[in-house]
Amino acid sequence: MYQTSSSAGKPLLRVSARSYNVGVSGDKRSIAVSPAGASDANRALRSIPSVNELVESPAVAKAGVGIPRSLVVDTARMVIEEYRAEVLRGSSGNEREIDELVRRVVERLEEASKPRLRATINATGIIIHTGLGRAPLAREAVAALAEAAANYAPVELDMPTGERGHRSFILRDLLCSITGAESATVVNNNAAALLITLTTLARGREVIVSRGELIEIGGSFRLPEVMAQSGAVLREVGTTNKTRLSDYEKAFGENTAAILTVHPSNYRVLGFTEAPEVSELSKLAKQRSVPLVHDIGSGVLYDMRAYGLRDEPDAKSSIAAGADLVLFSGDKLLGGPQAGIIVGRKALVSQIEKHPLMRALRLDKLTLSALAATLQLHRDPHTAAERVPVLRMLNIPVEQLVHRAEGLAKEIGRIEGVAAVEVSREESYVGGGSLPTQAIASAGVRIRARDMDEAELARRLRMGSPPVLPRVREGWVILDLRTVFAKQDDLVVSAVRAAVRAQ
Ligand SMILES: *Cc1c(COP(=O)(O)O)cnc(C)c1O
Repeated sequence: MYQTSSSAGKPLLRVSARSYNVGVSGDKRSIAVSPAGASDANRALRSIPSVNELVESPAVAKAGVGIPRSLVVDTARMVIEEYRAEVLRGSSGNEREIDELVRRVVERLEEASKPRLRATINATGIIIHTGLGRAPLAREAVAALAEAAANYAPVELDMPTGERGHRSFILRDLLCSITGAESATVVNNNAAALLITLTTLARGREVIVSRGELIEIGGSFRLPEVMAQSGAVLREVGTTNKTRLSDYEKAFGENTAAILTVHPSNYRVLGFTEAPEVSELSKLAKQRSVPLVHDIGSGVLYDMRAYGLRDEPDAKSSIAAGADLVLFSGDKLLGGPQAGIIVGRKALVSQIEKHPLMRALRLDKLTLSALAATLQLHRDPHTAAERVPVLRMLNIPVEQLVHRAEGLAKEIGRIEGVAAVEVSREESYVGGGSLPTQAIASAGVRIRARDMDEAELARRLRMGSPPVLPRVREGWVILDLRTVFAKQDDLVVSAVRAAVRAQ
């Protein structure tokens, strides 16, 4: 359970801070090169090894196994050029150059072979961070994914009959039993779910949407534009803050194909507002024989108020209130892999599954396996709250985070190059367009370095190994611990140590 914090930013503990030491280092470029210096430079230039010497050296040859020779040669050439420039500036030029250049080439080749998506420590406090790939998966989902990845897996085969089937059959029973829907299918993400739903049900016809729900999410998802792509015609009703049932009623015409209601995930209209309930819209849709589509966004499957999720619509309640189709993401509050989920009436779902776009939007075996494993955890809300990382992080008691922050601050305070470190009260957010106004009381450490400003410290943390993504505010680099796994605490300390080291 979490509470809203009102004391964000206040230090709880101060750890003895080192005093600033603003040293001004000499600018090497301004040092005049004396005649003696010039001949030194010439000698250094002449002794730079050739590209070939570097490429043929045993260490480079070893690091280059499995890398195209042309790339190794290019790397060696680049390292030599950079070195030559350093020599001319007077900042390099010692004995044993070949060793130094070999070391640099090997380092670059190793860097180039590291995984491109490296495990990154999220110290932003944003639980569903779209820039960091949203939800980290539960252990169970990772295991299922690894097994499917390394093997053949029957994504489109009904094994008892040996017949070919639709891929969503793997998940359908789980989704139906959890949400109470008649049927379900899955696509690549929620934007795709909305696109295929609208194009299947309403191409060339009108879809009624409240003006208060014409959302933009993450810059590239703008409801009117997705609608335009689907071929459905947007019929706006009401105003930004108030839309009544009568507004929907008046908008009906011969060409009306559906009513769409969208959860305004990443913003709230506060004050004098009005919008009909899903149950009222459903009644109207039934009277006029059109489907009601509800895009709930975040993927809360059932009422999770007991687990800290208030103010979010859930799929089960929406189905119970009469929505014909409910759409949501797999990688937001559901805590699974990127996916778009469609649950609802059987006839509508099977119409969507038969649409030719389905082939372009379908899921692969990796996502299917991870999503199925995540849904298996959701069969029991208590198990989900314990095992699904997104839900677990949401519910860590703030005292636990303060305790960890105190330990970290002590360690970080001992690091040479750290000017100040404090335990601080922070405010985390769910992120990913969910619960934009609900701050979650959190705790972290904030740091100032002796020899660099906060932007440079943050940059070095991002570029470190493992990379750490912090928040930056008012001269501090902040590490919010709600999104840092406890087992990563030691890595955070060493990341700070490496980052503040003079270079
Ligand atoms: C996040 C969101 C989307 C887009 O979902 P993706 O899975 O990111 O494609 C669509 N609608 C709503 C209401 C959302 O919150």
